[in-house]
Amino acid sequence: MAKNWYPIIDYEKCTGCLTCYNFCPHEVYSVGVNGKPMVVNPDNCVELCRGCQRICPAGAIRYYGEQ
Ligand code: SF4
Ligand code: SF4
Repeated sequence: MAKNWYPIIDYEKCTGCLTCYNFCPHEVYSVGVNGKPMVVNPDNCVELCRGCQRICPAGAIRYYGEQ
């Protein structure tokens, strides 16, 4: 769907709560060996969606493609 829009996680801020992983219905995220989310299917992200950013309690999500 969105080759020019997908989440970028700031691992310095990310606590590994997996709220984003559990929220996104498009399988953009997987869980890495460190227990933190990984963006594995960026093309599945819906352009201009900010759903996971809105619910991230750590403010750790920004987007490739945002100005
Ligand atoms: S919701 Fe935010 S803090 Fe929680 S795992 Fe995702 S990026 Fe990390
Ligand atoms: S921005 Fe939307 S579609 Fe993209 S990963 Fe977050 S919740 Fe999923």
